[in-house]
Formats: sequence, structure tokens, C-alpha cells
Amino acid sequence: MRRLATAVLLTAACAAGAWIASRVAERIALQDLHHRANAALDLHTANLDGALDKFRMLGPLIAKRTDVVDYFRGDRSPEETAEADLMLGRLAGMSGVETIAFAELNGEVFASSDPAGATGRTVNIPDVRDDFVAALQGRLGRYHDAEDDTGAGYHFAAPVRDGTIVIGAVLVRASLDTVEQAWALTPDPVLASDADGFVVLANRYWWQGMTLHRDTDPGNQQSVLRLRSKDRAGTSAVTLAEGDKSPGEFIEHVKPLPLLGWTLHVFAGTGPVDRAMTSAAVIAALASLTLALAGWLVLERRRQLIARVRLERAAALRLERRVRDRTAALTAANTSLAREIGEHQATEKQLRQAQADLVQAAKLAALGQMSAALAHEFNQPLAAIRSNADNAGMLIDRDRAADAKENLGRIAGMVDRMARLGRNLKTFARRPGDRTSPVPLRTVIGEVVMLMSARTGKSGTEVAVDMPDEEIMVEAGPVRLQQVLVNLVTNALDACEGRNDTRITISATRDDEFATISVADTGPGIDAEILGQVFDPFFTTKAAGVGLGLGLSIAYNIVRDFNGTLVARNREDGGAVFEVRLPLARRTETAAE
Ligand code: ADP
Repeated sequence: MRRLATAVLLTAACAAGAWIASRVAERIALQDLHHRANAALDLHTANLDGALDKFRMLGPLIAKRTDVVDYFRGDRSPEETAEADLMLGRLAGMSGVETIAFAELNGEVFASSDPAGATGRTVNIPDVRDDFVAALQGRLGRYHDAEDDTGAGYHFAAPVRDGTIVIGAVLVRASLDTVEQAWALTPDPVLASDADGFVVLANRYWWQGMTLHRDTDPGNQQSVLRLRSKDRAGTSAVTLAEGDKSPGEFIEHVKPLPLLGWTLHVFAGTGPVDRAMTSAAVIAALASLTLALAGWLVLERRRQLIARVRLERAAALRLERRVRDRTAALTAANTSLAREIGEHQATEKQLRQAQADLVQAAKLAALGQMSAALAHEFNQPLAAIRSNADNAGMLIDRDRAADAKENLGRIAGMVDRMARLGRNLKTFARRPGDRTSPVPLRTVIGEVVMLMSARTGKSGTEVAVDMPDEEIMVEAGPVRLQQVLVNLVTNALDACEGRNDTRITISATRDDEFATISVADTGPGIDAEILGQVFDPFFTTKAAGVGLGLGLSIAYNIVRDFNGTLVARNREDGGAVFEVRLPLARRTETAAE
């Protein structure tokens, strides 16, 4: 529907453009035609006037000559006639007229420039020939003959006077051939008509002898050239009668020729006007079509652009909506994440608190164990010292000073042991530093065995130390290493508890760079499925209140601080073995922590 409307609109635009252009072209071309016709009219007028005017005075001038008047007076001898012929021949030749002749009052031609042509030597139909009649009346006569053997001609007749009496006439005939030849070259019709509308001259040979008739004139005779006038874009045009050999429409320009008493008609064909109109219409139609198509294309482009912009805007809106939805979802997710993080942080805080509490509990438990061990360690020698002192007192009372001295020696030995224990405890209580130093393994292991001796003695488990003779120095912190080994021996004692023939072997070996201290027991060993977990903090298989699951984890971390490793495995012949691998000390000096 839309396309149909566009097509109709385009066609209408083209038609309108073509019509307007053809109208404008018609006016311009008509103007041009008028100019051309006017110019042609002037040219033909000048041509005709020029052709005849120069001969107008020739007759009167010849008539005034006395020798000519003499020819007209009285009788003439044949010689005189021949002489006159000769003279006229010369004058005609010089002036360019066709013929000059002398005629008596009765019309008889007695001399001529063309003696052979002047047959009979009489002016034809003297009472009809206007020019001759006018000459006899003393005026310059004029006459036009249409066609004769020599073509159209124009006659002038001048009176010859003897005093005041007209005695004859000089007849001059000028040929109109040159005018007709010039007109023949003009493609447009040209004609000259006399006062009666009789066609005197024309460049259409069939018009010669016809009479001009306007369409308002009555009559339907033959030999009539009928002109029908019509309106053509504000100017009047004419068409020639149907059946004429010059069909078509013309612009007629008319000019009177007062000298000759004629009217000159120039007809300019309107063919060029029609052609200009057609060309203008075609060009305008094409231009309008091109313009209309260009306009249509621009509009179509615009329409497509608007559609695209609309689509893009819709897509942008959709995208915006999606982004909004996503943002909302993300914000919600963020909020819930923040909440979760908050909860996690709270949980972590609680966990840390629990861990701190546990560590505190572990410390208290270790303190309790240690206090029990210390009480045991100190109470035994104190009781022994007490009884030895009592015995020494009694022995002194009985004057057995030597025996009393023995008792006092035992007391001193036990005091020394307690002092040593105290020293060890002092070392143990000192806060361990991060620094490491060369540590002799023999000393550390010896102290561990001594510290654990109270418990080992009670449990009935045999503790064996297997070391090479040479001292092995490792890079470690002595107290922390002692703590690690105490832990391992304690665990081994726990594992051996309730079993018969139990034994713990502490051995030390070395290679080029590392020393290995292993604590092996003859306990049940570690179940394969928990072997990977024993170093985890708070992992324990012991009853609640007995084990805290921190010992191995602390030991593991301490060894790692020394750049060493701690591994657990089961022995092939039963029991577990823990191996501490430490780098050998490169330095020799030792340092207490
Ligand atoms: P705790 O001794 O308080 O349980 P530990 O970290 O010292 O904590 O030990 C963790 C666990 O490793 C123990 O509960 C025990 O199951 C196991 N374990 C440690 N040493 C031995 C061993 N020598 N023989 C068998 N199992 C052991």
C-alpha cells in the first residue's frame, strides 16, 4: 500500500515536472521563434527592396536624355532604330536590368535592349498594363508580371516628354529571379502578396498565383491559400489549409512594402517549439524522477535509521534492565556474603577463644603433671634425708660418729641430686628463644632420661639409650629439643602402659649433614588410618582429661623451627617409632637457651 502510494506520488511528481518544464520551454522557444521570424522578415524586405529600388529611377533618367527624346520625334530610319537598340542594350548591360525598351503612345515598341525578344514590337495589352497607362498619364508606372519564360519580373514605365507633352514611354523590366533564389534557400515559407491578397512571389512554387484567405473569409475556391489562426501560448499562430503541401503550424510575421504596394509574409514553423517542449519534458521528467528517487532514497534511509535507532534503544533498555537485575542480585549476594563473613569471623573468634582456653588447659595440665612429678622427686629424697638425719642424731648420741658421718654423706649426696633437679627445672622453665645453637645430643638425651626416670621407674618400662661414642652436635635450641624428646618418651610410656616386657629405645645416628634421633617403643603401634593425623593439633585417642592432642603438634612445629623433620611410623616387629631429623651443627660453641 505504502509502495503504491510512493509510486503514484513519484509518477505525479514526474508528470508535474514535465508539464511545467514543457510550458516554460514553449514560451522561451516561441519568443525565440518570434525573434527569428522578425529577423527573417527584415532580411527578406531588405532583399526585395534592394533588388527593385535601384532600378526605380533608371527609366526617368533615360527618358530625360535629349537623344532619347529625338528618337521619339517624327519618323526614324532603320539605322536610327538599330542605333537605339544598341544604346538600350548597352544601358541594360551596365545597369543590370533585364530589358529596357522604348514604346510609342500606341504601345508599339520601336527599340529594345533585346530586339529579338521584343516580338511584334508592341506592348502587350497596353490598356491593361498599369505601368504603361500610368506612364502615359505622366507618372512612374509599375507592374508585376508573374511567370513568363524568363521568370517573374517587375516593370517600371517612365513618360518621355516633348516639352510638357508625353510622346512615349521608357519601359524597364527587372528580373525577380535573384530574390526568388535567395528565398529558396530559406526553409520556412515566405511569400509576398499584393493589395488583393494575390500571391506575387513565394518560395513554394505551388503558391504562385494563389490568393490568400483568412479563415474568417468566405469562399471555398480553388487557388486559395487558406490560413487558420489559433492561439499558441498567448501568441497567435496559423495553420495552412488542409491538403496543402506545407502542413503544420506557423507563427506568421507580416510587413507591408509601401513602395511596391505589397505585403511580405514570413512563416516560422513551430516544429522547434514542439521539439523543445518534448526535450524539456523528457529532461524534466528524468530530473524529477532522479530527484524524486533521491528523495525517496533519503527518506527510506532515514526510516531505516530511525528503525535501527529504535531497535538499538530497545536493546539498550533491555540490557540496562538486565544489568539492573544482575546488580540487584549481586547486591543481595554481597549482603548475604557479608553476613556469612561476619558469621565466620564470629565463629573464628569463638574458635580462637576455645583454642586459647585449650592451650591454657593444656598448660595447667602440664603444670599439674610436673608438680606431681616434682613432689614425688623432692618428697622421696626429703623423707630419706629426714630418716638419715634422725639416724645420724641417734648415732652421735651413741658416740658412733663414724656411722653418723656416713649418714651425713648420704644426706649431702641426696641434697646434691635435688640441687641438680632444681637446676634442670630452672633451665626447663626458661622461656625458649627463637635462636638456635650447637647442642650436644648426649647431654640432651641424658637429661631427658633423668627427667623421665621417676615415671619410667614406676611403670616398669625399660629405657635404653643407643648412641655412638663420639658426640653428635645438632643445630637446635637445647630446652625446646628436650621438650620434644620428653613428649615423645611420654607418649611411648603411655603406649606401653598395661603391657608386659615393654621397652623404649632412644637412639641417635648421623650422616653427612643430618642427625637422626629415634624414640622406639614396643607398644601397640599406630593404626594405619590415623597415622596421617597424629601431628594434627587436638588429635588424640586418649580418654578425655588424659590426652589433649597437643604434644605431637607442638613437637612437630619445634622441629620444623630447627629446619628439621619429625615423622612417625610403625616398626616391623611391633610398636611405633618417631624419628627427629635435625641438621648437624656447623659451629662448635654451645649456648644455653
Ligand atoms: P596426647 O598424647 O595428648 O594424646 P599427642 O599429640 O602427644 O597427644 O599424641 C597424639 C596421639 O598419637 C595419641 O593420642 C596416640 O593415639 C598417638 N600416639 C602418640 N605416640 C604414640 C606411640 N608411641 N604409640 C602409639 N600411639 C601413639
